[in-house]
Amino acid sequence: MKTILAKADEASVKKAAGLLQAGEIVAIPTETVYGIAASAFNGAAVKKIFEAKGRPQDNPLIVHIDRLEMLEGLVSGVPQGARALAEAFWPGPLTIIMPRGPKVADEVCAGLDTVAIRMPSHPVARAVIAASGLPLAAPSANRSGGPSPTIAQDVMADMDGRLPLILDGGACGVGVESTVVTLAGEQPVLLRPGFVTKEQLEGVLGSEVLLAGAVLHKLKEGEAARSPGMKYKHYAPKAHVTILRGDFAAYCKYVCGHAGPGVWALCFDGEGGQLPVPSVCYGAKEDDAAQARELFSALRRLDEKGAQRVYARCPHVGGVGLAVYNRLVRAAAFEVVEL
Ligand code: AMP
Ligand code: MG
Repeated sequence: MKTILAKADEASVKKAAGLLQAGEIVAIPTETVYGIAASAFNGAAVKKIFEAKGRPQDNPLIVHIDRLEMLEGLVSGVPQGARALAEAFWPGPLTIIMPRGPKVADEVCAGLDTVAIRMPSHPVARAVIAASGLPLAAPSANRSGGPSPTIAQDVMADMDGRLPLILDGGACGVGVESTVVTLAGEQPVLLRPGFVTKEQLEGVLGSEVLLAGAVLHKLKEGEAARSPGMKYKHYAPKAHVTILRGDFAAYCKYVCGHAGPGVWALCFDGEGGQLPVPSVCYGAKEDDAAQARELFSALRRLDEKGAQRVYARCPHVGGVGLAVYNRLVRAAAFEVVEL
């Protein structure tokens, strides 16, 4: 299959809408990361997403809508609290788990009786949903297990020949996938941290939001995942990544002791010059939003440069930094050295 990379404009958005209506898949930008979209009503189309990504079938997808009326048939009810969250954070990088409605294709939910819903704010994503008139099931547009793409060229690197069209809407502003929260149980639970923080959710709900154990810790053998995507090693580049937790002086000392061919540093802005190995940086130390925006791109650049062994600076584990750490610790397959 020939893959066209087209600047997102009126004509290419119209083309994308036509492909989606015909049961094809298309890569589109959102404010979080690039996604591969298909009609959430069309099981055969959704299957093509799993094939293109090489994604395990038991990992459910998020359905993207551009207005609340689209919830009709997608969900069987809107849980208490969901309406307040939607009002506060939609359109934006928040996904809410709701009871599943009758029109969602089985393939979207991977056998669960719930469905994940998000209303994105990115103008291109919204234009494609509006032009197609379809709710779009869309996971990140990377090959399963790799870092999510935040520019169209990174989608092309993973998906060339696997789908007909990639819309180029420039670099994603958020850079990590949406926050996922479930209101299906007795207490709200944060299943995946993102740009919308736990504290912001608690502020709107007026109650505590629990952190799913798998956000920060590796699931034990046989332990059930609250959110199926948490099971897998994820977001990982080809290089072997280790997080070094401690201050910069201790980090420098450790990297000096482990320097050698193929060793790279993944550090904060301005730190590279003081290190004995080449480096890629991912935002300023105090700027967790910049770290979120740059992390996945930095992981991809390390692979392009042929890094074999990567020592990563540890982000602050709170606020948006919780999302950064959650992705980085999976990229590192939970290998963290306390300095
Ligand atoms: P991605 O599409 O790559 O952004 O990943 C979507 C993630 O949302 C999945 O990996 C799941 O962890 C989560 N998710 C989607 N649907 C559900 C659901 N019904 N219940 C719990 N988590 C979900
Ligand atoms: Mg993904």
